[in-house]
Amino acid sequence: MNPFERPRIYTIETDMSENTTRDTVILGSGCAGLTAAIYTARANLKPLVLEGHEPGGQLSITTLVENFPGWPEGIQGPELIENMKKQAVRFGAELKMAHLHSIDLTKHPYELNIGKETIRTRTLIIASGASARWLNLPSEQALIGHGVSSCATCDGFFFSGKEIAVIGGGDSAMEEALFLTRFATKVTLINRSEKFRASKIMLERAMAHPQIEFMTSTVVEEVLGVEDKDVKGLKLKNRATGKESTLPVSAMFLGIGHEPNAKAFTGLLDLDPDGYILTKNNVFTTKDGEIIPGVFACGDIQDRRYRQAITAAGSGCMAALEVEKYLEEHGR
Ligand SMILES: Cc1cc2nc3c(=O)[nH]c(=O)nc-3n(C[C@H](O)[C@H](O)[C@H](O)COP(=O)(O)OP(=O)(O)OC[C@H]3O[C@@H](n4cnc5c(N)ncnc54)[C@H](O)[C@@H]3O)c2cc1C
Repeated sequence: MNPFERPRIYTIETDMSENTTRDTVILGSGCAGLTAAIYTARANLKPLVLEGHEPGGQLSITTLVENFPGWPEGIQGPELIENMKKQAVRFGAELKMAHLHSIDLTKHPYELNIGKETIRTRTLIIASGASARWLNLPSEQALIGHGVSSCATCDGFFFSGKEIAVIGGGDSAMEEALFLTRFATKVTLINRSEKFRASKIMLERAMAHPQIEFMTSTVVEEVLGVEDKDVKGLKLKNRATGKESTLPVSAMFLGIGHEPNAKAFTGLLDLDPDGYILTKNNVFTTKDGEIIPGVFACGDIQDRRYRQAITAAGSGCMAALEVEKYLEEHGR
């Protein structure tokens, strides 16, 4: 698509006069939402950030982040997020522990239902992210950031020269496994069924790789190493034979997909078949291809390809600048 193409704009009567209405509300307090908060706060728009069920977003559950520019020695994910929050608050952003339940996008100002309260806003930045799917084993949850990860691009480097496992049977698992062979001496791909959901080409590529071994009909029962806060191996069970075994690995990467947090927008905005928000010119949201005025999406909720802190922050900046432009064009 031509990046400068201006798609048709959905017709809605805008009301910019009411003073109890917020200029902008940001859904989500991950790096996309907080970057948008820094920019809109510095533009004096007094943004309200709804923190959602995971304050700080995905970076708040990880440990060392080594690829965010400006931190030559790396920075702990929660510390990076805390810094972004402080920066946003310093310029006047307000953070609220609340979750969007539903929204009315048919009349302006937009009305957000957050449970007992309704918030009216002239513009909205959706930065609600996409949560990685986990196995939800207690041992796995305890070891996230200590050898358990859902992001090979982010954490693969930490396991150079080690043996690791990748869980899943689809294209993302194959992609993660292939990528991880750059660092690991051996990658064991564990799939719960005999069949793979991956495309033929990806499966063949992974199967042909000398560093990748396959285990099928196998499930992880426990991640070993909780006492040491460091993955030592996996306790596995073969679903066909019932036989249990232990696989010594230094890391487990989940490749079983992500869940975009866009349920509140089903039927209201254009989503792709997996539920990610479709955007035009990076951050403009649409319904039936027409732009929804003043509603922007940024970060992992509209980006299934890169899913990085820096790209999320970058699109958070773009959304904030579009909010400023939109309000200015409408006389605020
Ligand atoms: C284990 C792990 C390690 C990672 N390591 C790195 C790394 O080293 N480097 C790197 O660049 N990237 C890393 N990533 C990826 C990075 O964390 C994400 O790309 C980034 O966090 C995306 O930011 P986001 O703001 O779009 O979404 P998220 O961080 O997912 O934040 C989403 C926010 O939206 C909120 N929310 C959701 N639904 C609602 C709702 N209905 N109402 C209100 N709020 C809502 C949530 O509470 C949350 O605050 C890692 C990810 C994981 C899981």
